[in-house]
Amino acid sequence: MILAADFGGTTIKLGLVCEGRILARSRLNACANRPMAERLEAVACEWELLLKTNRCTLQNCAGIALSLPFLTDPQLPRVLGEFGKFPGATNIDFAAWSHARLGLPAALENDLRVALLGEWTAGAARGKSNVVMLALGTGIGCAVISNGRLLRGANNRAATLLGHSTIAHEYPAGRCGNPGCAEDLASTATLANLARSRSDFAGSQLAGAGKIDYETIFALAAQGDACSEALLLQSLKVWAVVVQNAVLAFDPELVVLGGGVLRSRDIILPAIEEHLRQHMPSFPLQIPVTAAALGDDAALIGGETLFNQIHISTCA
Ligand SMILES: [Zn+2]
Repeated sequence: MILAADFGGTTIKLGLVCEGRILARSRLNACANRPMAERLEAVACEWELLLKTNRCTLQNCAGIALSLPFLTDPQLPRVLGEFGKFPGATNIDFAAWSHARLGLPAALENDLRVALLGEWTAGAARGKSNVVMLALGTGIGCAVISNGRLLRGANNRAATLLGHSTIAHEYPAGRCGNPGCAEDLASTATLANLARSRSDFAGSQLAGAGKIDYETIFALAAQGDACSEALLLQSLKVWAVVVQNAVLAFDPELVVLGGGVLRSRDIILPAIEEHLRQHMPSFPLQIPVTAAALGDDAALIGGETLFNQIHISTCA
């Protein structure tokens, strides 16, 4: 059994995971502005409570698995860079902390990579050896399994930053410094600014909406609001181009899409498949595009897979 935790911006999901199944689960408010050391202690206490409630002890556990919203080095294991959440994370020796606090070995990885491992173990990507997963919404995240292994690259950055690739080079530099960055052109982080910069915004239904997010955009586009329709069309194109670029780079047999916007999968999936059908150069290729199946469970189940992979490779 593994103690798993998935650190998100709003909540930290926790679980007891055994052989691809979540035996028990819980969640904490993320309090992502608080130091990582403090949140780790809260997680440890919650794990102990979960174990007690389910009549288990730390002796029943092989280790811990942390899914983190950062670039990470899973071999050290450490966080490589913070983005304003859980301050102090880069200073923490997670293996030493886990050993001292719980007497257990630790594994950690970037959250979308762990979610992909979960989908690969028990969800939409089960049985596949080459898979691209993209998370759409707040940003554009990417993770890849290539030839049956999580793709990490020389600096553990492989695929993770694909959402920051330039897809419109004539645009000014965005938040990350990259001109025409895909994430700046289609994500919740920039959606309100994109909307307000449009000439048809002032007279649109969107201008009267309380909140400018994808849920609103999809709803108002369905009602025929031209501004929302245009923004939706742009986002679909950007997502489709990112998927296509990922397909060209990684040659997957399946693309899995996750993120909150997939509530509108009936619109998103056919649009992206159609783009791939029309625009794959050189030769036609039918790449299935599907929605993630496990939701919040993916990064907990994937935590066990990650732990086993790291543990086995350490022992080998
Ligand atoms: Zn960017």
